[in-house]
Amino acid sequence: MECPFCHQDNDKVVDSRASGPAIRRRRECLGCGRRYTTYERAESEPRLRVIKKDGTREGYDRAKIRRGLALALHRRPVPTERLDQILQEIQDELTATDDVEIPSRAIGDLVMQKLRKEDQVAYVRFASVYRDFKDVSEFVQEVQPMLSQRAAAGAAPEKGKERNASDNRPTGG
Ligand SMILES: [Zn+2]
Repeated sequence: MECPFCHQDNDKVVDSRASGPAIRRRRECLGCGRRYTTYERAESEPRLRVIKKDGTREGYDRAKIRRGLALALHRRPVPTERLDQILQEIQDELTATDDVEIPSRAIGDLVMQKLRKEDQVAYVRFASVYRDFKDVSEFVQEVQPMLSQRAAAGAAPEKGKERNASDNRPTGG
């Protein structure tokens, strides 16, 4: 375990005790002598149930949500690590509430919210499948706020396109 203070990987456990579903350990860094606490818990799928549109329930399926994300992010400049991070964020938010049963719609909305911030193309892809737009006007309604935001942001020049002349200044000597 890397010490949070001096980042040396050299510690001893000075105390261990059960803390609900976790084990709480007090550790002492042998490098700097400071103490810190870690919690160890079993990795498991959260015990969530999903309420489907037709009212039936099914177990929360992390892999299914990952597939949805992966499809939306296909060939987008978002690395797999980031995808898994988003997936984890979604799961954390779902398990943060005490609700054991969550409507599938709430999960879909959460995924949309995350994708919207991450990658607009992925967001539109996911939204078009998930929302199952009935016609073009419904789709336009959905993307309109995003487009106007973009237009506002577009007023500023894009970074990195122009090389600044001062970058070519000679190195002194
Ligand atoms: Zn240390």
